[in-house]
Amino acid sequence: MTTSLVWLREDLRLADNPALVAAITAADSVAVLYVLDDESPEVRPLGGASRWWLHHSLRRIQRDLNAIGGTLILRRGPARQVVPEVVAEVGATNVEWNRRYGAAREIDAELKKSLPNARSHTGSLLHDPWSVVTGAGTPFKVFTPFWKSILAGPEPRLPLAAPTAIRGVDATSDLLDSWDLLPDLPWAREFPDHWQPGEAGAMARLERFLANGLAQYHRRDEPGIESTSGLSPHLRFGEISPYQVWHAVESVATPETRANANRFLSEVGWREFSYHQLFHNTDMHRRNLRAEFDDFPWEKPNPDHLAAWREGTTGVSLVDAGMRELWRSGTMHNRVRMVAASFLIKNLGIDWRVGEAWFWDTLVDADEASNPASWQWVAGSGYDAAPYFRVFNPDLQAAKFDPDSVYRARWIDEFNTPLYPEPIVSLSDTRARALADYAAMRGERPQS
Ligand SMILES: Cc1cc2nc3c(=O)[nH]c(=O)nc-3n(C[C@H](O)[C@H](O)[C@H](O)COP(=O)(O)OP(=O)(O)OC[C@H]3O[C@@H](n4cnc5c(N)ncnc54)[C@H](O)[C@@H]3O)c2cc1C
Repeated sequence: MTTSLVWLREDLRLADNPALVAAITAADSVAVLYVLDDESPEVRPLGGASRWWLHHSLRRIQRDLNAIGGTLILRRGPARQVVPEVVAEVGATNVEWNRRYGAAREIDAELKKSLPNARSHTGSLLHDPWSVVTGAGTPFKVFTPFWKSILAGPEPRLPLAAPTAIRGVDATSDLLDSWDLLPDLPWAREFPDHWQPGEAGAMARLERFLANGLAQYHRRDEPGIESTSGLSPHLRFGEISPYQVWHAVESVATPETRANANRFLSEVGWREFSYHQLFHNTDMHRRNLRAEFDDFPWEKPNPDHLAAWREGTTGVSLVDAGMRELWRSGTMHNRVRMVAASFLIKNLGIDWRVGEAWFWDTLVDADEASNPASWQWVAGSGYDAAPYFRVFNPDLQAAKFDPDSVYRARWIDEFNTPLYPEPIVSLSDTRARALADYAAMRGERPQS
């Protein structure tokens, strides 16, 4: 009797899981392992909201595996040590995993050399980052040619079916509750009203989007209506793959929804582009991708300003609504993320890394590619970034995208009452200061 080991990481699903399929094909029985690794220096420890999600997602996949005869082995510790231990314990003759693309891939590369028949698979991106390059063989730094080059290639492969039976392998396992992933604070108490972590929840979201959101996707910038998919945390934890999303959208797209489908798939493309950046810059949550920003004269964060931003009490209503949405639901609408990030960086003069760290801790979809890439996009320090001098005006953004105040009234109880505070800073004065700082960085006179 032979045994495979499949090591799950950011692919907490049974359907369209190439590593799982390979493990089942290669041996009579399959040990399924998840390792909580907070110790390896290459792993960025998960934030609070992600830990909440992970707890529930692991619980779901544990049940889903049990239902087809498998078990989930939970272990905690540095992967370099834990994975070989479990391989030896279950007597695995081959080891399978789906690739990851950040700094932790160093761990995988080392293990690949030392483990028996270790094989990696492409499961969470449509294309491995090293396979998408410019004509000169260099990484893309601009999204449009990157996406065009992907669209010019073959269609993504079809999703793989979920296994209907597995011969599981028993091994000692931690109890999920002993990992203490759920926060002590009542902070996440409303998360279950918004989210159903796990593969079934991901599918339900996708179906809801195909039925209702897709036809409205051209209104994706309006935070008051539900026109986007809400798939980001499911994609982040790999409860659904981009292949499943791609083919589901293609299968329902009609001439009327074609433009929306293309636009939606290009947003999935931005996720790919973020991972492309991460692959080539694994320290991008710490380092400006454009080195001239290393000389930027960031203010020392004013603790009152920073607290007001985090709590959503800045008196700038679109920013406050977004920050309160984030605190209560673990997410924030994309347009509002841009405005809230711009306000922190440009109006409060605070280094983008401070905001990135807060989002890392509080977003359920916090991911080590899209979060720093998006913060650097807003700051102007990233690839294909918005120029620093383009400062979002939160009031104009609100008038344009939330004209009836539906979104702001939803998240700010005291909106439009005398209890709502005055802005903590003047938008025009701080904008002028931001432009002067930017000019100083470049050794220029300020732009108006
Ligand atoms: C400051 C800031 C921080 C962000 N941090 C994250 C993060 O940590 N994790 C994350 O997944 N997204 C992040 N985003 C991108 C974007 O806001 C979210 O992906 C989007 O709001 C998720 O909602 P949705 O699933 O309804 O998106 P949809 O519009 O339905 O898009 C479909 C999918 O495409 C991907 N996607 C959409 N927009 C982007 C984008 N701009 N960049 C990269 N991928 C995108 C997501 O996987 C998303 O689920 C950030 C954006 C900003 C401005």
